[in-house]
Amino acid sequence: MLLIRCPWCGERAESEFTYGGEAGIARPVDAAVQESRLTDAQWGDYLFMRTNSCGPFRELWLHAHGCRRWFEAERDTRTYVFKSTRPLGALEDPL
Ligand SMILES: [Zn+2]
Repeated sequence: MLLIRCPWCGERAESEFTYGGEAGIARPVDAAVQESRLTDAQWGDYLFMRTNSCGPFRELWLHAHGCRRWFEAERDTRTYVFKSTRPLGALEDPL
């Protein structure tokens, strides 16, 4: 069984978590104003284009069946090993 370390609850079974996709995707600044200025291709890039990296990867996870908080994790996509987890916005909180 894969264990994932929630920054608040500690290690829990993977089945308690929900994957949230790649971390660090910034919404366009003032999107409501810029919406009419962004092209369909730019919106498409923001909404759908993600890195498909092989190796260390920053991603978002939700402890859905626990504290219901989002956090950021760094996971190696080749081995599935979580190298670190931290609250969103925290600079660093290694395992
Ligand atoms: Zn938790």
